[in-house]
Amino acid sequence: MFVGHYSASFLGKAAAPRVPLWVCILAAQLVDVAWAIFILTGVERFHLDPSLPSNPLVLDHMPYTHSLVATLGWAALAAAAVVAAGYGSARAALVVALVVVSHWGLDVLVHRPDMTITGGEPKLGLGLWNQPTLAFALEVLFLAGAAGIYTVAARVDERTRRAVVRGVAVLIVLQTFTMYGPIPPSPTALVLSVLTSFLVLTWLTARAERQLTQ
Ligand SMILES: [Zn+2]
Repeated sequence: MFVGHYSASFLGKAAAPRVPLWVCILAAQLVDVAWAIFILTGVERFHLDPSLPSNPLVLDHMPYTHSLVATLGWAALAAAAVVAAGYGSARAALVVALVVVSHWGLDVLVHRPDMTITGGEPKLGLGLWNQPTLAFALEVLFLAGAAGIYTVAARVDERTRRAVVRGVAVLIVLQTFTMYGPIPPSPTALVLSVLTSFLVLTWLTARAERQLTQ
């Protein structure tokens, strides 16, 4: 899953208003940021199969990022970082941890069976990627639905609401390009583009939040 993960970011922000949205944006993809770094350093492995629908990913080995046990570890790390940064209560830490963990559950929905509990068998995944239209609809529905819930629940002002709508639109364009655009020329190119997207999206969110509070 790609932009659908950000549904958890918006719900997290609604549940823990003192935590900046950019923290929730990074938290939702923390596992994939780690995955990109672990792929680049050879700790985890994947290869491309251009014949596959939705995306060419064959995720051979990713026990340290996409097993449930590892995801809980990343969630604990994120919770500790939230406490250390002074973003509020135990509730804020718990909310951010849940945003991190949501990544695993949402990935199980779309991934072909490559998700694990502890890193080995069984391999889980409902494989919605094999039905691109359904997978695309799910990503957009989750994202737009959660963003809508956030704007209502947090009673955001008009400027913020417009910024959220713009952000969601940008994410839907990115999702469309990822799913229906050209396949990256190499695994490294794919990983670098994925990592860049996550970091730039986090930075853009932080920048928008700064502008909105000025
Ligand atoms: Zn993932």
